[in-house]
Formats: sequence, C-alpha cells, structure tokens
Amino acid sequence: MSRESLKSSAPETAMDPFEVEDDSYDTGKIYCANCIHCKLVPAPGNVTGQFYLRVRCDAGKWTKKLGGEKQYKYFTVTRRSIDCCDTYEPMGDAAEFISDLRKTLPIRDELYDKEE
Ligand code: SF4
Repeated sequence: MSRESLKSSAPETAMDPFEVEDDSYDTGKIYCANCIHCKLVPAPGNVTGQFYLRVRCDAGKWTKKLGGEKQYKYFTVTRRSIDCCDTYEPMGDAAEFISDLRKTLPIRDELYDKEE
C-alpha cells in the first residue's frame, strides 16, 4: 500500500466484493494491501479541515455494482484479499507485511485533522 496525494472520495454504497472479511490469513490469496496499486487516500470529513482515510486501487479494479470507483475504509484494508489479479504487483512478503500492518491499523474509522 502506498500513499497518494489528497483527493476526494465517492460515498460507499455497493456491497463488498471481497470474500475474506475477517482477520485470518490465507496463503492462497492475494492481499491488496501488499500491492503497489493499493493507495492510501484522504476522504473529506464532515467538518472542514478533517478527513478520513480510505484505500483505493489505482489499477481500477475496485468498482461499484452500478459503476464508478469503490473505496474502502483504511482500517479494513487487510481484509481485501482476492483469488487472482492480473495487475497485482507485490511489494514484499505478504504474510509478514499483513501481520505487521494489522498491529498498526486503527481499529475503527478514525477522523484526522489536517495540518496547517
Ligand atoms: S491491482 Fe489487484 S491486487 Fe492490486 S490493489 Fe488492485 S485489485 Fe488489489
């Protein structure tokens, strides 16, 4: 997962297409968090100067049922795993990375203050 410059995000309305929704680790899966295309981006909060963190696939693989880009809450990023992806570009050992990431992820959708 890599950081990207500030951009707005669309509201989340579609069902989650990912099969794994818990914190288990499956060696047969691809974990999007370990892919260069998984980007961490801010999403506007309800108050000016505040934002949430979202993740997006800059290869355009995450889409809503009715079209448009789907983004996910950052704290759920380690749950984004799929069987295969033709544009997966791993950034290292997935098991180790996911394990370390789980130790540092927030446990809920947190609101952050922008630095002036
Ligand atoms: S390119 Fe594939 S593996 Fe990488 S973040 Fe997008 S959907 Fe996940």
